[in-house]
Amino acid sequence: MTVTGAWMPYWTGDVICMEASLADELSRTFDLAFRPVEWPKSENSDAVQLVIPAVGEKWYDPNLLEKAGVERHGTQGALCSECGRWRWMPLGREFRPPLLKFEGLGDVDIAASPEWFGDGQLCFRHLLFRRELAEAISLASPRDFKLVEAE
Ligand SMILES: [Zn+2]
Repeated sequence: MTVTGAWMPYWTGDVICMEASLADELSRTFDLAFRPVEWPKSENSDAVQLVIPAVGEKWYDPNLLEKAGVERHGTQGALCSECGRWRWMPLGREFRPPLLKFEGLGDVDIAASPEWFGDGQLCFRHLLFRRELAEAISLASPRDFKLVEAE
């Protein structure tokens, strides 16, 4: 399977939370895992966080990530001082290298990139959604999710 049929969200973070009722509804159709939200509880204490597995060896050509990072930010990335991971510099969609042909989403409906990105406090992965899941989430929360087809 190729990346066709997967959608990528237009925002930069990789944490997706939703009401438990929506999580229940989506779980009837999709193979998803959830855990309680990690931030301090508010009134909306039934919120859950989607658990997003990393899929594949790499989604991007590292040489192209390095080149784009240097062009945009003067550096390709750095080790995060907090979590110790290598993270590439964040790149807006128009500056990202194309996705490599990787194994695809396999039997999951949402996947996170093996590569980490970030700067300052921020560490995140890129996400790919199966199209039907992306549509269901954006239908439930149209103002929070802007979805674009993976390229
Ligand atoms: Zn980090």
